[in-house]
Amino acid sequence: RESVTPLGISAAAKTTGIEAVPRALESISCVVPCYNEAENLERLLPPLSAALALLAPQWEIVLVDDGSTDATGARMAQWTRQPGVRALQLSRNFGKEAALTAGLQAAAGQVVVMMDADLQHSPAMLDTFVRHWRAGADVVYAVRTHREAESGFKRLGVRWFYGLINGADRFEVPPGAGDFRLMDRKVVTALLALPERNRFMKGLYAWVGFEAVAVPYVPDERAHGQSHFSPLRMIALALDGLTAFTVWPLRAVVALGFALALLAFGYGTYLVVDYLMYGHDVNGWTTIVVSLMFFAGVQLVSLGVVGEYVGRIYGEVKQRPLYVVKRELGRGLQEDA
Ligand code: UDP
Ligand code: MG
Repeated sequence: RESVTPLGISAAAKTTGIEAVPRALESISCVVPCYNEAENLERLLPPLSAALALLAPQWEIVLVDDGSTDATGARMAQWTRQPGVRALQLSRNFGKEAALTAGLQAAAGQVVVMMDADLQHSPAMLDTFVRHWRAGADVVYAVRTHREAESGFKRLGVRWFYGLINGADRFEVPPGAGDFRLMDRKVVTALLALPERNRFMKGLYAWVGFEAVAVPYVPDERAHGQSHFSPLRMIALALDGLTAFTVWPLRAVVALGFALALLAFGYGTYLVVDYLMYGHDVNGWTTIVVSLMFFAGVQLVSLGVVGEYVGRIYGEVKQRPLYVVKRELGRGLQEDA
C-alpha cells in the first residue's frame, strides 16, 4: 500500500534506502488532454510553462486536442509557436482515456506529468511531485481529500465501486486518485506496453505497480465550462473498470443460478410430497406465472452480464487503434534558454 509521507521522504526511500542520493531531473513532459478548453488553455499555459521551466533544464507540454469543436485547436496551434509547447490533434473525440494514452505515447521526458486543462489541477503541485520523485518514488499521484458537494447517492456508488473492484485482486485502486500524477519513464513504458483497448486508467495505474506516493490535494473549481463527465458517463466508466478488472459478475451469476436451482428443487419436493400425502389438486396459477416471469428476468440479466464481457472481447479482438492523430504541431524537448 502506498502511503502519504512528508515532503521529500518517499515511501520508496524509507523502505528500501536505495535512493540515498536524490535523483537529478533532466527532462519533464506534461500531458494535457483538452476537449473544448479554449478559454482554459489561455489561463493554464503561462503558469504551467513557468512551473516546468523551474523544475528541469528540458521540458515540454504535450497538448492533446481530443476532437474539440470550439477554438481549442486554433489556440493550441498558436501556442505551439512557443518553444516547448507541442500539440497532437486527434481526428475526432476519442475520450479522455484515449487522449491521455496519445499524450503518453508522444511524451519524451524522463518523467511525465498528466493534468487536466480546466485548472482543477494546480501547476503549483508539480514541485511537490518532483520532490517525491527525486527522493525515489516512481509514481506520485494526487488524492482528492474531499469530494466536492456530492450527493449521498453518488458517495454510496463510489464506495461500492471501490469495494467491488478491490475485492479480489492483488493490487488496489486507491479511491480519490485520478489522472493527476507524475510517472517515471519506466512506469510510462510499462503502461504503454499494456495492449488492451479498454483503457480504464485508474485500474492500469494500479496494475503496473511501482513505488507510489500519494499527495493529498483539494481540487480547484473548474475555471471555464462544465465537466464532461455526466452521471451516466460515470456509470459507463465504472462498468468499463469492473469488467476490465474483475470477473465477479460472472461468478455472481453462477451463484445465483445455483441458489435458484436449489430453491426450485426444494419447492418441487414440497409439491410432490404435498400431492402424495394430501392429494392436493393442481392449482397455483399465480405461482406459475410469477415464477415464470421471475426466472425469465433472471435469465435475461445473466445473459446481459455475459454479453457485457463478450462485447468487450469483441472490442479487443478488432484491434483497432485507440486513436487517430490528425495533426502534430510544435517541437518538444529542447533546452530552455
Ligand atoms: N477530456 C478529454 N476528452 C473528453 C472529455 C474530457 O480530453 O472526451 C479532458 C478535458 O478537456 C479535461 C479533462 O479531460 O482536461 C477532465 O475533464 P473534465 O474536467 O470534464 O472532468 P472532471 O474534472 O469533471 O472529472
Ligand atoms: Mg475537471
